[in-house]
Amino acid sequence: MPEMSVIDQIATALRDSTIPSDRVSSWMCRWSLMRGQLICTQCQAAQSAEQADERFIHRPGCIAVRGDGYPWQELAELLNRLPQRRRTSVPRQGFIS
Ligand SMILES: [Zn+2]
Repeated sequence: MPEMSVIDQIATALRDSTIPSDRVSSWMCRWSLMRGQLICTQCQAAQSAEQADERFIHRPGCIAVRGDGYPWQELAELLNRLPQRRRTSVPRQGFIS
């Protein structure tokens, strides 16, 4: 088993947190987004959003430990789990009687 980098150790510790922002932090340790491409922070391999249903392929020798291998889907799940922004409704003006 390849040795985990410090970043991956932190990411792994945060990945199973029950706090949504920790899980997002974990994702951000492992991945970055640039020009529509999702990039492994360790080996710089990239994948487009159109390939979201395909397993992410790292460059040979990448020591990263990566969840289930579908980082776009992991991101989508994380975003769905974030608390919804509270929308303030503007009170409707009633007729003055
Ligand atoms: Zn990699």
